[in-house]
Amino acid sequence: MQHRSNMPAKERDLRSRIAKILHSAPILRGSITIRKVTCGKPNCRCTKGHKHLAMYITSRKDGKTRQRFVPKDREEEVRRWVADYHKVCDLLDDLSNLFWERVNLKGK
Ligand SMILES: [Zn+2]
Repeated sequence: MQHRSNMPAKERDLRSRIAKILHSAPILRGSITIRKVTCGKPNCRCTKGHKHLAMYITSRKDGKTRQRFVPKDREEEVRRWVADYHKVCDLLDDLSNLFWERVNLKGK
């Protein structure tokens, strides 16, 4: 690995943005889906067609899709976890592209 002070500014910037997220932010890979559900209470409005909106997170693991209900009070937080996962992926992709350019550069 090259010394940090010799690192191109673009690379240094990407690495520090990735590190900042990975250092403490929760990250979650998955897709958020909103489903219309009934709650099970016999006289609720949802039994008459006015269904509740419920958030689920789905993701694949070992070739299978799994899903998990997201409680109302965690929806915003979980959206942030998923967004941060995508942010890290995008930044990693940008970092990878820098090295793509270097693969057949001479003298590196
Ligand atoms: Zn209901």
